[in-house]
Amino acid sequence: MTIIRTSISAFVVLAALLAASLSAHARGLTYGLQADEIADGVYVFWGLQENWNVQNGGNIVNTGFIVGDKEVLAIDTGPTKFYADEMIRVIRSITDKPIRNTVVTHHHPDHSFGLQRFKKINSRVMMHPEARAGLLRDGAALIGFMEIAMGQGWMAGTEIDKPNKSIRQSMKLDLGGRTALIMPLDGGHTPGDVIVMDQKTGTLFAGDLIFHQRAPTVPHADIPTWLDHLNTMSAMDWQRIVPGHGPLVTDRSVFNMMADYLEYLQQFAEDSVARGDTLADAMTSDVPERFHGLSTLQIEYRRSMLSLFRKIETQDFDAAAAVN
Ligand SMILES: [Zn+2]
Repeated sequence: MTIIRTSISAFVVLAALLAASLSAHARGLTYGLQADEIADGVYVFWGLQENWNVQNGGNIVNTGFIVGDKEVLAIDTGPTKFYADEMIRVIRSITDKPIRNTVVTHHHPDHSFGLQRFKKINSRVMMHPEARAGLLRDGAALIGFMEIAMGQGWMAGTEIDKPNKSIRQSMKLDLGGRTALIMPLDGGHTPGDVIVMDQKTGTLFAGDLIFHQRAPTVPHADIPTWLDHLNTMSAMDWQRIVPGHGPLVTDRSVFNMMADYLEYLQQFAEDSVARGDTLADAMTSDVPERFHGLSTLQIEYRRSMLSLFRKIETQDFDAAAAVN
């Protein structure tokens, strides 16, 4: 009897899971991804300038791929299994070369949660070791968070998976007739970011080290290091930059805008703690008008103040402990 009950309940769970996974398609939950060829053999899937929600299924991120004579390199894997599967389908409609390697620029879910699907097609998935650690540490909680924000339908079948190649040092990948430079930049936007430069066309995939016309997110950031990385990237020999979020970058003004905003956040949070403001004061403070054009500003500003304020308070206690 117990066995029958167990198998009936297992069946019910299975049926529910199947219904959840079917519902994504039944309810028309497809992303409609279109590959935009921004340079010879370099393609981008542009994300929306929104926060993730039930309508967009987390399609707020830029992903892309580079087609060589021998093979394809994919860059980032999107927020869900459905996104990654759609991405792979579109790549295959453009080229029959194998997607031999995939770079995941960092562990944030909109960039990394599709990686299981790339492993499934035998692509070698590369990540910074710190990003791998972040994914394994936070992944399960982030899936729950995304289910709440976007609905379970979009997340059906999405599982946390590990990359299978670590990027600790810069390396070059020969794609056939073109070379991709893969370069780790530690501790800026997150503890482990990686950027990719297609050397043939001078196209730089910067991941979330560049947010263009959109408020950067800082919960895992170290702002002084991030500012150094902006200088590093600014000095590189690029023709165009694909940011993690926002439209194509073709001039240097993005570097000034980002540095200005990040420095402002850091300084305001430090001053606010020093003044003895409450966290609520800091989170509801007015943002200077020069930043008002950034998309998702209001929510990101509050989130940024929340994390920076807490971090600075903690540092204050740590410093006191070190003295005493
Ligand atoms: Zn990110």
